[in-house]
Amino acid sequence: MQTFATEVVDWPDTAPALREQVRALVAEHGEPDPVRRANSWTKADPAFSRRLGEAGLLGMTWPKEYGGHERSQLERYVVIEELLAAGAPVGAHWIADRQSAPLLLRLGNDELKERWVPAIARGEAFACIGLSEPGSGSDLASVRTAARRDGDGWVLNGQKVWTTGAHVSHFMIALVRTEAGSERQAGLSQLVIPMDAPGVSVKPIIDLTGAHEFNEVFFEDVRLPDSALLGVEGEGWKQATAELSLERSGPERYLSSMALFLELVRYAGPQDNPALEELVGRLAAEAWTLRLMSASVAAKLARGEDPALEATMVKDLGNSYEQAIPQLVQAAVDFGHNESAALRAVCFYLLQVSPSFSLRGGTREIIKGIIARGLGLR
Ligand SMILES: Cc1cc2nc3c(=O)[nH]c(=O)nc-3n(C[C@H](O)[C@H](O)[C@H](O)COP(=O)(O)OP(=O)(O)OC[C@H]3O[C@@H](n4cnc5c(N)ncnc54)[C@H](O)[C@@H]3O)c2cc1C
Repeated sequence: MQTFATEVVDWPDTAPALREQVRALVAEHGEPDPVRRANSWTKADPAFSRRLGEAGLLGMTWPKEYGGHERSQLERYVVIEELLAAGAPVGAHWIADRQSAPLLLRLGNDELKERWVPAIARGEAFACIGLSEPGSGSDLASVRTAARRDGDGWVLNGQKVWTTGAHVSHFMIALVRTEAGSERQAGLSQLVIPMDAPGVSVKPIIDLTGAHEFNEVFFEDVRLPDSALLGVEGEGWKQATAELSLERSGPERYLSSMALFLELVRYAGPQDNPALEELVGRLAAEAWTLRLMSASVAAKLARGEDPALEATMVKDLGNSYEQAIPQLVQAAVDFGHNESAALRAVCFYLLQVSPSFSLRGGTREIIKGIIARGLGLR
């Protein structure tokens, strides 16, 4: 049976300078309130994204030809880890930098690459993921949004849902049915859809905290050129599922509640409270273990290996960790008295949003199924 081989990660010599650069940039942007620092990779601030682009901290591993900086996967890891640990508002560019541009570089035609990738590296173009539809979440192969050939282009009709950041995005990469009458995984393709194309409309979904992070997106006779096709017609399923492993491997899968952990450390610091000390110690040890596992995945990616199974394990364990923190803090702190206002605010915010941590990027049940298959158990 395959096991999870963690390894000593050989951090690049440039890591300390990169960490300092990111910390200075976050400080320059001002200290956001503690609630904004929690779950920070969903908080969009286009000005901050542009600032990162100017500083050469987006598109770090991509070719210079497309505005990238040809740095290593581990250098990129250092930057995103620092951003998340600080709770920087990275939501605007997150999806484009993490998966859309790498996908365009791997599969896109010259027109798509030239139009979008340099703008993403500058922090000026943002992207969203069009997989889910009403009735197609875990059962992704049931997507019904369809594009039919029309002259030398496409006409698109249908609807996507839960589309994070559609309202700040410039384009969507969508999984759609391009072969009429096809079923399940066959006949699906990926299309790159400019969000300002006539016939595309975005309707907000407001979550229970009152925030606007995701949306419904409707397509009504949207005309797209032939060049909107990403990769190979009919291979959309294979392409989209490969993209999911990029989505599941990063430190954003265990650092979402870090702002609360930091508030807990601040709160517990001066007290003589063995229960709080034990909680802080346990959470720190778990964070360190997850970091080692997550960085091991990045090191394997850097060597050109495909650690898809390990990445899925990190997502599952990491989501359980970031989901548990608010509940453990709630149980350990007497919010009836003397609690810190920041600790209370972050804890109550995360108690509301953390149930979604194990839904986004694939639900816990689906993830466990993938792990079981990878281990040869089903
Ligand atoms: C914060 C957030 C952001 C998101 N952003 C995006 C986005 O940007 N783009 C996008 O396309 N989607 C996005 N999603 C959608 C997300 O990918 C789906 O919610 C997820 O895939 C689950 O699909 P569903 O909601 O239709 O639930 P369902 O598939 O209906 O699942 C309901 C429940 O049944 C369980 N279940 C379903 N099938 C099985 C099975 N075969 N075996 C065992 N249990 C099963 C699930 O685990 C779940 O607990 C986002 C979701 C969240 C919460």
